[in-house]
Amino acid sequence: MAKNDWKIAKEAIEEFNNIFIFHHIRPDGDCLGSQFGLRELIKLNYPEKNVFVFGDQGILFPFLKWDFDKFDEVDKKYFKNSLGIVVDANESNRIQYANYILDKNFTKMLRIDHHPNDPDIKYDYTWEDHTFAASAEQIGYIAMNAKWKINQKAAKYIYLGINTDSGRFQFDSVAKRTFDVMSYLHNAKDFKVWDINLPLSYKDERKVKFSAYVLLNYKKQGKVLYFHVTKKIQRKFKLSSDEANDVGVLSNIGDCRVWVFFIDLPDGNIRARVRSNSVWINKVCEKYKPGGGHEMAAGAMVHNKKEMKQLINDLESEIKKYESNNN
Ligand code: AMP
Repeated sequence: MAKNDWKIAKEAIEEFNNIFIFHHIRPDGDCLGSQFGLRELIKLNYPEKNVFVFGDQGILFPFLKWDFDKFDEVDKKYFKNSLGIVVDANESNRIQYANYILDKNFTKMLRIDHHPNDPDIKYDYTWEDHTFAASAEQIGYIAMNAKWKINQKAAKYIYLGINTDSGRFQFDSVAKRTFDVMSYLHNAKDFKVWDINLPLSYKDERKVKFSAYVLLNYKKQGKVLYFHVTKKIQRKFKLSSDEANDVGVLSNIGDCRVWVFFIDLPDGNIRARVRSNSVWINKVCEKYKPGGGHEMAAGAMVHNKKEMKQLINDLESEIKKYESNNN
């Protein structure tokens, strides 16, 4: 169920002079595109406001500019009359630099999110709607409805978010509204999807070889496909745990309903990236803490082979339940 609508976000933004935008840990195109797209829109439409962005993008999307602000370099006067905004996330353990929020630096907090989770942070304003294909679609939707001006820079960031989180307009969540927002983005002078599509389409040779290996070596249990990206495999292909993570390589092969990447992290935990084409998987993922996400795209944390096996068994049971209810 959606909580509130775009107007609450616009009203909150209009109320405060100083705005601080956060993204989630292990950032992706959507949280980064939402964060920087919103920053550009606010700068363009409310030039008197001060906008700051916290976080980092690591090695992602080098074809766009990611000029983050540093908390320690922000003059304390800007924390007065301030609004902290979390885009594409909600819980403190999912937010990069959540400590700045938990330390109560901001006057009020706003959440703009398309995840159906109940957070531990008390937001003063929330616009949560899991029917949106991307948080960036929500940002574009605010701008479209508020009749904000848009420029090429903002449109590029927002499009990056929509493109990546909708699997290039393939997923179930894509709707007429997604294309209405896309049409609105094209009001920006000189904006072309090609300018994002082309750099996104370049393939790293190491990843191509890794994908080929995954396709030849994945495992199957019932209608669950899975692959364990061990540290040894990361070394073999010279890829980090953040690079050897494209769970989409296993999508929709044969009769599978769910596919999983287990990725060994440097800290010894094993990150599970779970995807589905039919069965809802986020409740299963929530059991493996911290875990959760969308109905058909979620994540979880496991610690050893036994827990990996348990997660696969749980996913298999969920598929069986789904199939017996849908026959
Ligand atoms: P990922 O596999 O990291 O791309 O995550 C897929 C979706 O699940 C994203 O929307 C994430 O925000 C969400 N997600 C991933 N891991 C977690 C987690 N540990 N807790 C809550 N949500 C998660």
